Amino acid sequence: MHIARTIEELRNLRRRQETDTWGLVPTMGFLHDGHLDLVQRARRENQRVAVSIFVNPTQFDQNEDLEKYPRDLERDLALLEKAGTDVAFCPPPEEVYPPGFQTYVTVEEVSQPLEGASRSGHFRGVATVVAKLFCLVRPTRAYFGQKDAQQCVVIQRMTQDLGFDLQVVICPTVREADGLAMSSRNARLSPEQRRSAPALYRALRSAAAALARGQRDAEALRRRMIETIEAEPLARIDYVSVADPASLRELDEVESKALLSLAVFYGTIRLIDNLLLEEPFILSVGAVSNGDRVPKG
Ligand code: AMP
Repeated sequence: MHIARTIEELRNLRRRQETDTWGLVPTMGFLHDGHLDLVQRARRENQRVAVSIFVNPTQFDQNEDLEKYPRDLERDLALLEKAGTDVAFCPPPEEVYPPGFQTYVTVEEVSQPLEGASRSGHFRGVATVVAKLFCLVRPTRAYFGQKDAQQCVVIQRMTQDLGFDLQVVICPTVREADGLAMSSRNARLSPEQRRSAPALYRALRSAAAALARGQRDAEALRRRMIETIEAEPLARIDYVSVADPASLRELDEVESKALLSLAVFYGTIRLIDNLLLEEPFILSVGAVSNGDRVPKG
């Protein structure tokens, strides 16, 4: 595995295998099985795999979250090597944002609700760094997790709008055995918070079950999620949403598709999760939705 710390090194490695197909997995590191699932899929579908590890400062609106974001580069590189990565790109911030940097990508409408409403400038930072990675790596395919549902919508929109010649591949959310979506931020939860955190997935499942039983009223589905989270004394709701999966606008009535999503604070740690549901909304263990991997048992 090659480790590139500069843009020049990355470009040179890419040029050496000019005609190969390349899979790109952008990450912020502190890797878990959700990230490695993306890397393995990229490995299966491409001749070369590049993974970026970069805690992108422009997508954080609070310095505290940026500073406390967990990091362990040595461990990450060992995991990537084992997963068959060809190139790990781990640049320092000034390599991506050199002095004088002033060019940003803004994806307008779909960046605004949900995460965008809570985290000002977040998707401008995400779209900018992903666009830059697309230009540098020139991947055949780029891999993203359904866990960050709005990010997937933003990146798909940007790819189409700017004409990037690549396929965006969305991979299912990988969960812990108790249903908690894997996230680098989970490592910061206290033992009590960690025990309570599967409530996010329970809330989503509860609303999905109501939808499967014929409850199409979006406000009733939101209320179900709110009730589940409010039963947890350590949890504080940021938002719950039942939205159209393409426009991300809130629904009154669910028709053929819905994106159920929520963001919940445990202290200063903010967790997100979602379920993408499509008609006929049948709720069965192992196949709650096409964008979700349900734990066995
Ligand atoms: P991050 O390091 O959190 O920026 O995530 C890097 C990529 O991994 C993003 O495309 C995420 O959506 C994806 N990812 C993070 N957690 C999971 C998970 N539990 N399951 C699947 N993909 C994930």
